[in-house]
Amino acid sequence: MSSPRYIVREIALAVGTPEEALARTVAEFLRIPVNSLSDLRIVRKSLDARARNRPLWRYAVEFSCARPLQHPRVSVVQPPVEAAASRRPLPGPSVAIVGSGPAGLGAALGLARKGYKVTVFEMGRAVIPRFRDIRLFIKQNKFDAKSNILFGLGGAGTFSDGKLTARTRNEHTAAFLGELVASGADPSIEYLHHPHIGTDRLQFIVDKFRVHCEEAGCEFRFETEVSDLVVEDGTCRGVVVNGDALPFDAVVLAPGLSAHALYKALEARGVAMERKAFAVGVRVEHPQELINKRQLGDQVDAGAVGAAEYFLTWQNAAGDAAYSFCMCPGGVVVPCADAEGALFTNGMSYSNRATPFANSAVVATVNVDALPGGVLAGVDYQRRLERDAYALGGGEYRFPVQTIAAYVGKRLDSGDFPKTSFQKPMRWANFWELFDSQVANSLYESFLDFERKIPGFIKTGFIIGPESRTSSPVRIPRKPDTLESVNVARLYPIGEGAGYSGGIVSSGADGFRLADFVSEWKAP
Ligand SMILES: Cc1cc2nc3c(=O)[nH]c(=O)nc-3n(C[C@H](O)[C@H](O)[C@H](O)COP(=O)(O)OP(=O)(O)OC[C@H]3O[C@@H](n4cnc5c(N)ncnc54)[C@H](O)[C@@H]3O)c2cc1C
Repeated sequence: MSSPRYIVREIALAVGTPEEALARTVAEFLRIPVNSLSDLRIVRKSLDARARNRPLWRYAVEFSCARPLQHPRVSVVQPPVEAAASRRPLPGPSVAIVGSGPAGLGAALGLARKGYKVTVFEMGRAVIPRFRDIRLFIKQNKFDAKSNILFGLGGAGTFSDGKLTARTRNEHTAAFLGELVASGADPSIEYLHHPHIGTDRLQFIVDKFRVHCEEAGCEFRFETEVSDLVVEDGTCRGVVVNGDALPFDAVVLAPGLSAHALYKALEARGVAMERKAFAVGVRVEHPQELINKRQLGDQVDAGAVGAAEYFLTWQNAAGDAAYSFCMCPGGVVVPCADAEGALFTNGMSYSNRATPFANSAVVATVNVDALPGGVLAGVDYQRRLERDAYALGGGEYRFPVQTIAAYVGKRLDSGDFPKTSFQKPMRWANFWELFDSQVANSLYESFLDFERKIPGFIKTGFIIGPESRTSSPVRIPRKPDTLESVNVARLYPIGEGAGYSGGIVSSGADGFRLADFVSEWKAP
């Protein structure tokens, strides 16, 4: 009989200590001989920087032990419980997947491995031509509404920070992370608390993921936009591409949160949708050195622990709230646009996170219920904001910018721009003119509060463009037991655009979740 497996948590090693010391540290902590432990495996690793200048790595470690153990910080690893056998097959073998972001890729791979004949429709391009299109936009202002930072293989995640944080971890997040590792990611992403890949590596990993999908039998159709669904008597029978109705037995909707045209088509088809809370604000950039010193101390080599992060929140008694979001240490602020005459920003980083800049969104919650219009009022609100931002920048994709000091002082800057990672032309602007008073005031109050938490946040902070696509403004409700749309049979909404995830990992996991809900295809 094999020895039982245990997990011990909160094992600390000073930063810089080699991980070979883990076995001895665990044994000393449990007061047992080191040779009674075997098969150690790190299951969690996170940075503890609470004691400034003395950062620690904290570990959860799984191991086998010949002797029985009882300790408050030790738990026995239970064998996985077999999921209830409630899986059902899809109504037929042919499946269309709309979108090749993390959600679409996860579903494509999971379903193809279960024997379905999967076709992935992607409006944008494959990685290399997409990369060229993005460069053309940044360097020569040549804009492509269908191939950009948001659209193309890998979706919005490909040219991103590649932060792989997820609020919850389960078998579906594990399946997605495992597949990223199989596609070339470092295995540590499976246990690090804040894993990070970086866009320079992610592009190749995403492309390898596609290869694995193709090896499993998927067909990818790039530069192919699904403009509508074929819906007959409450049942989805296929997709419309270039005006042609293409029949499929099931359709998986994974178009991300920027699929404005498709949302409108779904609304016209009567697919049930509902408003969902979201937030808008600005992208801010600071010297990374300021953040490192504040978060880690002034004697810590950020090279050893990685550029420091922050997560800041503010709320007032009336319920208005603002928070930092998608922070990119050592990163780059990127220009985004998916329609002529509209712009917004986001953040990304390379694997070394080595630029001298820290950027993050600071966003305020929008009072969604108060927005005029129908179910797509949030979509219209985002687009209006992006068009107003374009006008504020003076056109030609010049991005509006303002120092946080000037925003707080409610004045316009003048003179040279501060040093920045941002590569598009900029124009001084006053962001008070962009936002409604609730959002503008929440940003103002949050900056004052963040200055108390990170002194220098106002003085050294630089606002670059609006941040408008933090989460989907709609949800496409689905049945909990099948993940099928509540009112259109054979239609499976997944991922961020459907309102069921936020971020790369949760979106990829949602794709694997759908595949897990489905049983293998066996021809009748
Ligand atoms: C610059 C940037 C940086 C980010 N950084 C991070 C990060 O570090 N960590 C993190 O967790 N998250 C990050 N995000 C968010 C993350 O990328 C998204 O949460 C995630 O990609 C959502 O996955 P998805 O598959 O649901 O949708 P998406 O990734 O948006 O993919 C949807 C795909 O569907 C395609 N599509 C849309 N409509 C159609 C249509 N009608 N026909 C055919 N195809 C269509 C699109 O072209 C797109 O490729 C970032 C986002 C951006 C823009």
